[in-house]
Formats: sequence, C-alpha cells, structure tokens
Amino acid sequence: MNKSSYPVAGQSLDITPAIDYRSDTVTKPSTAMRQFMSQAAVGDDVYGEDPSINALQLQVAKLLDKEASLFVPSGTMSNLLALMAHCQRGEEVIVGDHYHIFSHEAGGASVLGSIVMQSLSTSAKGYITAEQVAAAIRPDDAHFAKSKLICLENTVSGFVQPQAELEAIAVLAKERHLKVHMDGARLMHAAIKTNSSPADLCKHLDSVSLCLSKGLGAPAGSVLSGSKSFIARASRLRKMLGGGMRQAGIIAAAGIYALDNNLQRLQDDHQLAYYFATQLNKIAPLSVDLASVETNMLFVDFPLAPGKTDQQSLAKFLISSGICIGDTVPCRIVVHLDISRSDVDKTLAAISEYYSAG
Ligand SMILES: *Cc1c(COP(=O)(O)O)cnc(C)c1O
Repeated sequence: MNKSSYPVAGQSLDITPAIDYRSDTVTKPSTAMRQFMSQAAVGDDVYGEDPSINALQLQVAKLLDKEASLFVPSGTMSNLLALMAHCQRGEEVIVGDHYHIFSHEAGGASVLGSIVMQSLSTSAKGYITAEQVAAAIRPDDAHFAKSKLICLENTVSGFVQPQAELEAIAVLAKERHLKVHMDGARLMHAAIKTNSSPADLCKHLDSVSLCLSKGLGAPAGSVLSGSKSFIARASRLRKMLGGGMRQAGIIAAAGIYALDNNLQRLQDDHQLAYYFATQLNKIAPLSVDLASVETNMLFVDFPLAPGKTDQQSLAKFLISSGICIGDTVPCRIVVHLDISRSDVDKTLAAISEYYSAG
C-alpha cells in the first residue's frame, strides 16, 4: 500500500498526518498535560475514592451549577447514561435528526435502553423549535410510546444554538412534565463564543454532557451533570454498562488540566477558523459563507480541479503533504489546539497549488 494513500470512508489512515482537520478529537495531550497527569492522586473510583475524579466532578458541577457530576469514558456513554437514567423501557426521546444521539451513537439508546427515539428535522443551523417539539409530544394514549425526554445539542456543526429557543423548549418541557438533556460535547465553544457563563447556558436543563476529549484536548473522558438523584441512577448504569473504572484519576487529571488551561484559548480556534475561511475565499473556485463560521468548524465544497479525476481529489493531494481533511461533501474542517496559524498557512498554500496546477 502506498504510504500516503487516502482511506475510503470508515477506514483509518495508514500514516499519522502532521496537520489533521478531520475532528477536534485528534488532539494529543501536551507535555504539560502529561506531566500533570503523571502527578495525579488516584484511588478506586468504583468505591468513590479517586481524589482526582472527585475533584473533576466537583469542578464540572460548579462550572455548570448542577448538584452533581459523573466522570465517564466517552461522550457516547455519557449520553446513553442520561437517556437511560431519564427514561424507562418503551419511553420516548424527542431529538433533532442531525444530533449525535440520534445519528452517531449506533442507536445505543434503543438497543441497550429500549428507548424509542422520535426525530425532528433540524434547521440549517442545527436547532429544533419549541413549536416542533410541542407538536411532537404524544398524547397520553395506549397507542403511543410515552414522551419523556427532549434531547438538545450545543454547538451543532459549529453553530451556537439560540438560547431563547432552548429556553422556550425547557419551559414547554416543564409544562408537559418532560425532562431536557443537553448533549454539550462542545458547549464550551458556545460559552466562549457568546461570552456567557456555562452555568447560564445550562440553567433550564435537567442534565448536560460535556466532552473533555474534543476541543479541550484531553485524551479521553466526558462528564455528565444533573441532580444528585439523577447522577446516582447514572452511576449505577455506568457500572452496569462496564464504564466503572478504577484508578482513572490519571485520565480525569487531564480533564482538570484541560478545564484550567484550555478553555479561554478556544477563542483562538474560533478566530483561526474564521481566518481560514476568509483566505479560502481568495482561492478560485472556492467560496465559504463567512456567516456560517461561528466557532471552530467550517464546511467547504472542494470541487475537483479542472481535468482531474476522483483519484486526484484535493483530500488525496493534501495527504501527500501530511495534511488531512475529511473526504465528505461538503468537507468539514475542524480547527483545534494542535492547529497553528502556520499550519493553516501551509494548508492554504497547498490548496492554492492544487487549484492552480495545470
Ligand atoms: C463527539 C461527540 C459525542 C460523543 O463523544 P465520544 O467521546 O466520541 O463518544 C457526542 N455528541 C457530540 C455532539 C459529539 O461531537
């Protein structure tokens, strides 16, 4: 196999690209983060005795102003625990059709939790409306699954969700005795972008899941937050699903380091993503809607250069220089803490070369 071949969808690369825009999950723990991890106090977390995990849980509960938090291995498990802790078998979750919970978690809530999912079509900027939700809540009738939970997401494809709409949904949920869960994998991007306190963004939500392993740069881990009784149920479910870890404070320490050091700098990613978009617009035939670049993501159509075949796509061209972009159309470019301004300039030069080469 060619050392720099580009994989087809679902396969992995056979090289480690120096500059990787596929996701902010590709960030690697920095030397300082690794040093901090190596000093972490640890204990058996299934007994609740890992000081680093306990500290992280307290830190996130405070940050989001919730009663309690739970450290979990992944965002997918965090969402699954939330759905299973809120819903019984046969109860229904109302969720946006583009949201991770509905489309990217292998149907786990249905497979493992026997939870029914009703999807609503999300707007171009990723939100669902209170009006849509109101129409979707099932009446109390033996024909229907019982609507129990509404699942929101923020940010969605880099878009900060409109707070007024989220709050209107939360008010509606309260009136109709439903709960609201927020998949806040990238909630901190929304908080930094809008200069809001994360607690304010979460005020009306029953539970929130936060990823430490995306833009915040930890190697693994998410934190689920909510009321004490909700977290107690989620904790039991975490054990049931095999997510009870032991001396995992070594990983939680990375999360503490990330929250202490990598939050404010998210605005650098947002600025760099915007810069990337403005510079792409100077390369014919590319065109990026600048208004759509709100946080750390941009979506770009990269047509084949004139006279090139599918085998000569931009993605394949770039990988030979150690630059990796996804092969989806449109292409999602994610800027994160392992991408510098000079990486972006190098990438822009390579893209320019692709479109100018005769
Ligand atoms: C990445 C992501 C998750 C899941 O996190 P994993 O740690 O990859 O399981 C959930 N929701 C959203 C919006 C995400 O981007």
